[in-house]
Amino acid sequence: MIIIETRKRMQEYMREKKQNGLTIGFVPTMGFLHEGHVSLMRRASQECDIVVTSIFVNPLQFGPSEDLDRYPRDFERDQKIARENGTDILFYPSNEEMYPNDAGTKLVVTKRTEVLCGEKRPGHFDGVVTVLTKLFHIIQPDRAYFGQKDAQQVAVVDDLIRSYFFPVKLITCPTVREEDGLAKSSRNVNLNEKEKAIAPKLFEALTIASDKAKKGATVSEVRQDMLDQMNGLEYGKIDYVELLSYPELEIVDSFGQKTIIAVAYRFENARLIDNIIIEAVR
Ligand code: AMP
Repeated sequence: MIIIETRKRMQEYMREKKQNGLTIGFVPTMGFLHEGHVSLMRRASQECDIVVTSIFVNPLQFGPSEDLDRYPRDFERDQKIARENGTDILFYPSNEEMYPNDAGTKLVVTKRTEVLCGEKRPGHFDGVVTVLTKLFHIIQPDRAYFGQKDAQQVAVVDDLIRSYFFPVKLITCPTVREEDGLAKSSRNVNLNEKEKAIAPKLFEALTIASDKAKKGATVSEVRQDMLDQMNGLEYGKIDYVELLSYPELEIVDSFGQKTIIAVAYRFENARLIDNIIIEAVR
């Protein structure tokens, strides 16, 4: 595995690989790697000749009162995990490398962001598509790998790729969980012991809700049931509980289409998200 820190070197390197007809798989991350990231790298290495993983904590996707400063980082450990799980090139740019000047062109997402994290974190997805556009241009991947855990991100990136004709195929990988059901997340280290004991309830509530949906409960019954379960928790508070069509993220009044049940929950130093997607129930 080689580590590249500059755009210029990355572009030169990728140009050479592309000329040799090699397929490029890309795994964008913010580092502090865990098994969720590993599942993307492994899948990419099964399907592509070269795997590029990027580690960049993108300041543009954090709001002013969010956790940019306490976002966990450990580049030594990340290098080892990336190397052992199929990454060929680790792209590790600085902020100056990614945002070298006051750019006069901005990307703004206008679809699929009125709800969920788009609503709760204004500007977040503008930051996500901006950095991904830069990374796609630098790396020129054939396939890009994303986790279903960030389902709204997948929906937004799907629209970005189609809107701007990026010649990249979006591959979505299932959410990797702890044994107790908690979705793996870099932010889990910011949970205290008491919160850690409660956090698996998010997935438990989602599982119960999706079972109820499959057994014929209505959308509002399922939402209310989720709210009741989450409101009963001892610590933290609900940021949102929503049921929407997927990937369009529009309001639904029945389970007649693919539907996402999505939750965001705030603990003291970590805001966690999770979701379940259920196929159309007839
Ligand atoms: P992040 O470093 O949190 O920005 O995540 C980088 C990529 O890993 C995104 O595509 C995430 O959706 C994905 N990812 C994060 N956590 C998980 C997980 N538990 N299972 C699968 N993919 C994940």
